[in-house]
Amino acid sequence: MQPAIHRPTRAIIDRQAIRNNFLHERQQLTSDKYIFAVVKANAYGHGAVAVAKVLHELQVDGFCVATLDEALELRQNGLQEPILVLGITSVQDVQLAAENDISLTAASLAWLEEAVNNLQQPLKIHLAIDSGMNRLGIRDRLEVIAATEFLLQETNLVAEGIFTHFATADEPDVTYFNSQERKFRELICDVRTTFQYVHCANSATALWHQDVTSNVIRLGISLYGLNPSGTVMKELPYSLHPALSLTSEVSYIKQLPAGQKVGYGATYTTSSDEIIATIPIGYADGWLRRLSGSKIIIDDELCPIVGRICMDQLMVSVGHMVPVGTPVVLIGTQADLSISATDVANYSKTINYEITCNLSDRIPRTYI
Ligand code: PLP
Repeated sequence: MQPAIHRPTRAIIDRQAIRNNFLHERQQLTSDKYIFAVVKANAYGHGAVAVAKVLHELQVDGFCVATLDEALELRQNGLQEPILVLGITSVQDVQLAAENDISLTAASLAWLEEAVNNLQQPLKIHLAIDSGMNRLGIRDRLEVIAATEFLLQETNLVAEGIFTHFATADEPDVTYFNSQERKFRELICDVRTTFQYVHCANSATALWHQDVTSNVIRLGISLYGLNPSGTVMKELPYSLHPALSLTSEVSYIKQLPAGQKVGYGATYTTSSDEIIATIPIGYADGWLRRLSGSKIIIDDELCPIVGRICMDQLMVSVGHMVPVGTPVVLIGTQADLSISATDVANYSKTINYEITCNLSDRIPRTYI
C-alpha cells in the first residue's frame, strides 16, 4: 500500500524509547547473555529496518524475524548481525538463506533431511523444540537426538542454536510455564553437541522469569515499550517506554442539530446539538471497526468515536468547536491525557501487539 504522505496521519516512533528499553534489558543481563531483537512484522509496526539500525548502533547481538523475506530485507539494508528466521522456511529456499548467512529454524528431522539436499554451502540451524506450545518443534526426545546427530554428520548444516517458546510466560500462574521449562530441559539433556545459543526467553520470560536457562533473550514487545501481559502483570524490573504514538488532525468539523445520523448504517444519532469532527484514519489504516465508541484526544479532551469507523475516516463527537488542522492523538500523550496501545487493546478485547502490528503501510512512520 502506498504511504499517504499527503495526509496528516502519522505513526511517530521515538528511537530514544527503543534505546532505553534495550539498554534497561541489557543491564539486567550478565555478559554471557545475548539479546536478539525481534523485528518481525515490520518490528511490530515500528519499521523493521529503522528499528534494526537503532539497535545496530547499540551492538545488539542479533535479530529474529518470522520469514526469510524479512531477513533478506535486513541484509539488503546492510545489517550484518546474525538473523534467525523463527517460522518454517520452504526447503526450496534454504540455499538463498545460506548465501545470505541467515539462520533457519528446523522443526523436524524430515525438514533437515530434505533441506540438506538443496544446499551447496553451510546453513546455520536452530532446532525448535516443542515443550508445550504445540505450534512447531520436535516433541520427542529420540527425534531431538536424531536431529542433532544429523546436524553433526552433515557438513552443510551448522548446529547453531536450540530453542523453545513459552505459551504462558506473561501469566501470574506459573504452573504451565514451569512444566514447559522442565520439558525443554528433559528434551535437550541427551544432546551430544553444544549449541552456541540455547534459548527460550521472550520479553515476558526476560521480565518475570529471569532464572530460566537461556543464553539468548528474544526481545520483542518490551523493546517497543509495551507490557507483554497488557495490564495483568504490573510489576516490572524496569519501566518500559512506549515508542509509538499515532497522531492525526481534524480534517472536517461541523455542528449538527439533534436527531442527525452519523456514518454507515446510520447507527449513531445526535441527541442534542453536537459538534462532529472527521479524522483521516480508518480501518484500512488498522484502526479497526471494533474501536467504534473508544476515545481519542482532541484539544485536551477525550472524544468518543461515533458511528461506524469507515475505511479511511472516522467521526468523533467533540465538546467544543476546534479549527480544521487541530492535532489529534490516537495513541500517545497530549497535555495531561494519554492513551496507550494497551488501552486501545483493552477496549477492543485484544492485545497491544495486535494494535501496533495492525497499523498499515498507508500510515507513514516518522522517526524522532
Ligand atoms: N520468540 C518467538 C518464537 C516468538 O514467536 C516471539 C513473538 O511472537 C518472540 C520470541 C517475541 O515475543 P515477545 O514479543 O513477547 O517478546
